[in-house]
Amino acid sequence: MNSSDTALPVQQPRTVEHLIVGHPTSDGAGVKLTRVLTQNLQRRLDPYLMLDAFGSDNPDDYIAGFPDHPHRGFETITYMIAGRMLHRDSAGHEGLLENGGVQWMTAGRGVIHSEIPQQERGVMEGFQLWLNLPGKDKMSAPWYRDFGAAELPRFTLDNGVVVTVIAGQSHGVTGAVTREATAPTYLDVHLPAGARFEQTLPAAHNAFVYVYRGEARLGDTAVPVQRMAILRNEGDGVVIEAQADTRLLLIAGQPLNEPIAQYGPFVMNTQQEIYQAVNDFRAGRLA
Ligand code: FE
Repeated sequence: MNSSDTALPVQQPRTVEHLIVGHPTSDGAGVKLTRVLTQNLQRRLDPYLMLDAFGSDNPDDYIAGFPDHPHRGFETITYMIAGRMLHRDSAGHEGLLENGGVQWMTAGRGVIHSEIPQQERGVMEGFQLWLNLPGKDKMSAPWYRDFGAAELPRFTLDNGVVVTVIAGQSHGVTGAVTREATAPTYLDVHLPAGARFEQTLPAAHNAFVYVYRGEARLGDTAVPVQRMAILRNEGDGVVIEAQADTRLLLIAGQPLNEPIAQYGPFVMNTQQEIYQAVNDFRAGRLA
């Protein structure tokens, strides 16, 4: 589609406050990954709680997957760039997440699920983002949906930029999922070398960019591959220029400004609610 009809030009682009390098770690049954959004950034990037990037062509790094584990109080969004992962949960849902697909899971009051690779060789690459729920929704019924790559809203601009709208709105295109309280924007943007992309964003929304191919430039700041740029809460949007063929995630949301109490896979508002979650899990009441 032609973007010029619906795109509001950004007058005052946000600038980069900070560049973040992810921490190598492992999770699940020993899956190697890079934790890009860590716990110390939860307040700054409210309503987001975590971003993990995984990417390897060595099966030893991913083959064990994530056996049965619980979640309560937030949403997980898994975006598979390459690879095949089978999801099963205690609510009886099962789905295969494949190249370019998204799984959006609202843990709500609780799910127990597993995420197991369905390949013995080749590349496994993707992202898992944790989005908080407002306190009033933390004990809501669990929900989940798989979107195949072809089901995700996508558009191409005149300059060759291709945008997949996982959540929110971009250039008049509404994403696969919308949420009222957190108003998430989650875009996967592919830019040919030299191309430019603009996205309007409310200044109050916390926002960041993660470059996973190439190199981007935001104002005076170069954002190299495998870096997250946290954007200042000023201005009316984002202007991104590609220094090379570049792929990046642009993620933003409305902060909840509520207390965050986290214990592993449980994210609530108070310590008391965390004890309750742990007790419910131990007593088999979580699923
Ligand atoms: Fe999980």
